[in-house]
Amino acid sequence: MTSEQHDALRVSLGVYAMNKADSRERQTIREHLDRCSSCQDELADLLAIVDLLDRTALRPRPITG
Ligand SMILES: [Zn+2]
Repeated sequence: MTSEQHDALRVSLGVYAMNKADSRERQTIREHLDRCSSCQDELADLLAIVDLLDRTALRPRPITG
């Protein structure tokens, strides 16, 4: 895999983390993740952010003042 393809996949990781990738894109990403530990780390970070955003969206801030 060239670094150009690697960079393109990094962008797709965000889509994948939000569960918005289509089945062909998911397949490509999973095959890459099998071989690429830096993208595995990147995905872990993205999933943590997505999880945080989900929780923030479900829990509106209490109204103060
Ligand atoms: Zn990678």
